[in-house]
Amino acid sequence: MSNVVGMNEFVGMANGDAYCWLCQKPVSTRALFCHQCGTIQPVRNIDHFARLGLERRIDIDAEALERQYQALSRTLDPQRFLARGLGERGNAAKQLEALNEAYNTLREPLRRGRYWLRLNEKNFKQGIEIDPLVSELRRELIDAAEPSHCDRVAQKAGQALQQSVMSLMQALRGEDWQQANSTLVQIDGVETILDEARERREGLVPERG
Ligand SMILES: [Zn+2]
Repeated sequence: MSNVVGMNEFVGMANGDAYCWLCQKPVSTRALFCHQCGTIQPVRNIDHFARLGLERRIDIDAEALERQYQALSRTLDPQRFLARGLGERGNAAKQLEALNEAYNTLREPLRRGRYWLRLNEKNFKQGIEIDPLVSELRRELIDAAEPSHCDRVAQKAGQALQQSVMSLMQALRGEDWQQANSTLVQIDGVETILDEARERREGLVPERG
């Protein structure tokens, strides 16, 4: 796996882009530990890919993600820091939190897609029209008089959602930012329909008796 950063990279080799909070020696921003004194470092402002030691790509290698996450979360296991000072325990806890956030964002395609747009500073809402499919589903839902009608709308919305996530990934791969943003607006709309369908269905459950 050439696109994965080895675990030793997380012991800060001196790239000189940050400084150890304790001994003030240079450490890499990605370093969990100082190369000089071995102290765990505070969470630094790096992107989720860097945090997991993965190459920055929209299509990630799920196995590599899993492997990196497992190894890093073992390294950051709070049990390993029990004998350390309060500052280090705090850093370890925050590092683990940041790792979990990175992992949860990257493993799920829709979250990764949203994050990818933000990371590339290509997220915008201007000039995007309401998706006709979303309007159609909303009309159908307003007319729904029985739970089964709501289920049908929810089913259509669910299918549309799956389709949209695939379109989103395709647009992101092709760096078609306009298309990606339109697709995200559609996804937001479809997700809202799904919630509304659930709510409306609950309101329509027939009274027994
Ligand atoms: Zn140090």
